Amino acid sequence: MTRIHISEVGPRDGLQSIKRTMPLEARKAWIAAEAAAGVPEIEVGSLGPASLLPQMAGAEELIAFARSIEGLDVAALVPNRKGAQRAIEAGAQKISIPFSMSETHSLKNVRKNHSEMIAEIRSIAALLDALPAQTRPHFEVGLATAFGCTLEGTVSEDAVVRLAAAAIEAGAIEVGLSDTTGYANPAQVKRLVRKVKAAIGNDKLNTLHLHNTRGLGLANVLAGLEEGITTFDASLGGLGGCPFAPGASGNIVTEDLVFMLQAMGIETGIDLEKLLKVRQIIIDALPGEPLYGFTPDAGLPLGFGATAQ
Ligand code: ZN
Repeated sequence: MTRIHISEVGPRDGLQSIKRTMPLEARKAWIAAEAAAGVPEIEVGSLGPASLLPQMAGAEELIAFARSIEGLDVAALVPNRKGAQRAIEAGAQKISIPFSMSETHSLKNVRKNHSEMIAEIRSIAALLDALPAQTRPHFEVGLATAFGCTLEGTVSEDAVVRLAAAAIEAGAIEVGLSDTTGYANPAQVKRLVRKVKAAIGNDKLNTLHLHNTRGLGLANVLAGLEEGITTFDASLGGLGGCPFAPGASGNIVTEDLVFMLQAMGIETGIDLEKLLKVRQIIIDALPGEPLYGFTPDAGLPLGFGATAQ
């Protein structure tokens, strides 16, 4: 049976996109409850400047807390080398740096052009290389706005392929493709995954970070599955929404993703009934914050989880 790896990004991507700050204790309870439901990997925070990201305060403490949970892989987002250094010291097992394929977006977001970003990736790779192999976190570069940009519009697929190869050459272990803006469609997902894999190697593109802004999130997951993608990022309750489309979901909803995969007979290692209960922690900590997802509202179908034959 196929097994798909789900990386929960809500405590980072979801919380970073909303104005309110979830108290640290509630974030810990959320992480612990998802890990107890069998979620294998959680991106617990971002290590950017606290002045820019007050919602992410306490990221180091969260990394240390999450590391105490048996069997959980602890991921952190880092905007630069300084953040990578902090993530390493806190004990993150995976660090991921966003690299925007749209140079306009990159300049606006992190005030760095493409060659400056490649230099940053190279510098982080050097930092990691200096560590003993057994303590070295996995290093992923997330190719943001890979499917289109709200500032530039269409993003050239050839440019994505070229920049993916440059990121690997600079020392990334793997790249992931991110539909930051919710522009992707299934045909495009298949085409781009194929092109990037052909350029950098099958084993160096395993992850998709998809959004459901226009309702195509799970269709895009299916397209990725068909091209051999094995890791999908998702956010519990689709927390965070979409900054470009008020009322629309941003990240794909973890509960719906797990439902689709398990209904298809694809193993995730996640107990969906337990996962559905985790939502209450967010509702209690952030009353009134919009949450998304169909499965949490509809419930599980009768007989779901019984052995199909
Ligand atoms: Zn996202």
